[in-house]
Parts: sequence; C-alpha cells; structure tokens
Amino acid sequence: MPKFKEDISLSKFSHYKIGGPARFFFEAKSEKDVQWAVKEAKKRRLPVFILGGGTNLLIGDNGFDGLVLRPAIQDITVKGSTVMVGAGVLMADLLKRTAARSLAGLEWAGGLPGTVGGAIRGNAGCFGGEVKDTVASVRSFDVKKMKVVTRTAKQCAFAYRHSIFKKKNGAEIVLSVTFALAKGNKKEITKVIQERIRYRKAHHPLEHPNIGSIFKNVPLHAVCRKGSVRYEKALRDLGLALKGSQFSVKTDPFPVISAGKLISESGLRGVSAGGAMISPKHPNFIVNVLDAGSVDVARLITLAKSEVRRKFRIPLEEEVQLL
Ligand SMILES: Cc1cc2nc3c(=O)[nH]c(=O)nc-3n(C[C@H](O)[C@H](O)[C@H](O)COP(=O)(O)OP(=O)(O)OC[C@H]3O[C@@H](n4cnc5c(N)ncnc54)[C@H](O)[C@@H]3O)c2cc1C
Repeated sequence: MPKFKEDISLSKFSHYKIGGPARFFFEAKSEKDVQWAVKEAKKRRLPVFILGGGTNLLIGDNGFDGLVLRPAIQDITVKGSTVMVGAGVLMADLLKRTAARSLAGLEWAGGLPGTVGGAIRGNAGCFGGEVKDTVASVRSFDVKKMKVVTRTAKQCAFAYRHSIFKKKNGAEIVLSVTFALAKGNKKEITKVIQERIRYRKAHHPLEHPNIGSIFKNVPLHAVCRKGSVRYEKALRDLGLALKGSQFSVKTDPFPVISAGKLISESGLRGVSAGGAMISPKHPNFIVNVLDAGSVDVARLITLAKSEVRRKFRIPLEEEVQLL
C-alpha cells in the first residue's frame, strides 16, 4: 500500500536550494500512483501541488501545507521516430536517448534542465525552438473529473511559455507525452546539443543555485505597436532605442527585447538582498549566493519590476512559478 511521506524539506527538490517543508510528499512512479495520490488527497481534503524538477519554481520559506505530488513516471518507449515518454523523465535524459537513436527535433533543448512534464506545462523553449514543435499528443490526469485525457498538440493550446495545463493551474497533471521526431544524423544532432550546453555554461551563472530566467522576455509589440514604423524599423535593424539605451531585438520565438538587458540598463547588475543577487553575468537570473530565503528573491523580483517600469515604462512578467 503506498503512503505519503510527512514533513519533507522541499529545498532539496528545488534547483534554488530554497523552500520550507511539505506537510505531505509523494513520488508517483506510475499513472496508477498519480490517481491513487489525488484520490487520497481529496479524501483528506488536502490541496495538491505538482512538482517536476523544481527548476522553474520559487518555493516559499514556509513550504506547503498540503500534498506535494511528484509525477516520477520514467518510461521511455521508442517506435521508429515516435517517442513516448513519462512526465518525470529529465529532458537531459530524453535528449541522450533520442540522440543515441539518431532522432532529431529536440536539439534546441540541449542543457534545458527539468522534466518533460514541466517543459510541457510551460512550453519551454530556447534558441528558437519550443517543446510544442515536436509534440504529437499529451496524456494527462484531470483532477476534477478523475479521468485520463489525451490531447493532440493543437488541443494543448501551446503559446509562448504557456499551455492548457498552465491555464488549468494544477487541475490537470501531465502523465506522458508522445513526440514525433525525425530521422537525422547522430553526429550532427549531438554536435548541436553540445553547442547549446556550451553556450549555457558560458552565458548563464550556473555556478550558483538558480531557477533560470526570472522574467519573460518582452514582446516587441508590447513596446511599440505591431506593424508601426518603429516596429518595422526595430525588426529591420534588430535594435530599438529606448530612453537613450539600445536594445537588441531577438526571436524568442517572435520578436522580443531581452528582460536581462532592461534590468541591466536599470542599473541592477550585482544588486543583492540577503543571500540573493541579481546576477552580474546574466541579470535575468537571480542567484542564491549565500543561503538565500524566498523573501530575499522576492525582494529582488519586486525591485527589478519597479525599476524597469520606472525607467522604461515596461511591465516585466514573471516566467518562474511561485509556491
Ligand atoms: C539554468 C536554467 C536554465 C533554464 N533555461 C530555460 C530555457 O532556456 N527555456 C525555458 O523555457 N526554461 C528554462 N528554464 C526553466 C525550467 O528549466 C523550465 O521551465 C522547465 O521546463 C521546468 O521543468 P521542471 O520539471 O523543473 O518544472 P518545475 O519547476 O518543477 O515546475 C514548474 C511548473 O510546472 C508544473 N509542473 C511540473 N510538472 C508537471 C506535470 N507533470 N504536470 C503538470 N504540471 C507540472 C509545476 O506545478 C510548476 O507550476 C531554465 C532553468 C534553469 C535552472
């Protein structure tokens, strides 16, 4: 008979090494386990939070007074160029398996931390690619209706760092994903993955615990009207002048200006609160340099938002999730 663990520190499941205890904790190794845990939590009237790799989460110092449920389903089945993968598989492990089988389509995710379930929920993306690009279908568990649902990629309503699962805000748990990949060249695939990993090591402050980019990049159309002379010029020059500063416009996967550059131009590189610091290396990262608490990180998030708004009149929106 499965059993919930009690009073489990969440900081060891957090890429940030930040977070208080979960009152109850359960690692579900199968779809059946997920269903059992949800049923049990309902019986005990416990709120449920779904935890993946903890790489995009700021967990509060007070922890969670309910059940933290970790879908740790680890199956990977390859049939030709179709890959069925459990939500708990790390993206890094998936990439190893698909590269070994010469399957192309996920190379953009080289160095992307976290699980397949987390990547689906937030439609993770980088280097012009997004997880949605190769999804054929997603199986999930509907917590309200207590039933398994299968959706096509279109029905998942993927958008920029968004999906139907994010919209449902915990009411649906990703169980497994089917990717439709393409036959490719093993050497080429491995080369691109390694390049992405090298780029991340060179540009991201991986020497300190972190949760990746704190804010979404800012869509160009939020700064100037899409189709306007200024918008078109920004695209043509791949640059944009804002209050005396020059911002490069990049594709992510549509034209954006970098949140990191906005924070940097607001003079916040290296600013710290308690044990947390806005990374001087990549200012869209807030790093845990010295036993930071969630309160320290929250203070820097508030500061970055208010300074960027004050200087550029641009509202920054968090990419990370808060618990
Ligand atoms: C160094 C670094 C670099 C990063 N670079 C990128 C990048 O380039 N692009 C990018 O998009 N992200 C990036 N991230 C953020 C993060 O890695 C991704 O968002 C990742 O997909 C999150 O997956 P996770 O399993 O860690 O999710 P978690 O952090 O555990 O959870 C994130 C959210 O997803 C939900 N969730 C998790 N699993 C499931 C599930 N099975 N079903 C339903 N909901 C679920 C959680 O409830 C939570 O709300 C980076 C993070 C780090 C630390």
